[in-house]
Amino acid sequence: MADKTEAQIVNACAESAVYYIECKNQGDRHCLANKGVVHKQGDETAYLECSDGRVWYRCNAKQCAGKRVDIGNIPASASAFFQEMQDSAK
Ligand SMILES: [Zn+2]
Repeated sequence: MADKTEAQIVNACAESAVYYIECKNQGDRHCLANKGVVHKQGDETAYLECSDGRVWYRCNAKQCAGKRVDIGNIPASASAFFQEMQDSAK
């Protein structure tokens, strides 16, 4: 059966050199940060943290605090987007 979990960027904000992208649950979410844990729709969401050139998957749930997964390099398109946000905030 197909996994119905989807993520959607709903908000992105800058805090010094770290960028956070909030994700929105669409159905149950199998937590990437905490293997074996399934979060029900409407429960704590996940977010992406962009820092030090990497994208980290993190989870707002208490039981997942302190856990993170390295997703990979920040894509050039995302870096350009963050730069545009910074420039427009000046
Ligand atoms: Zn979690």
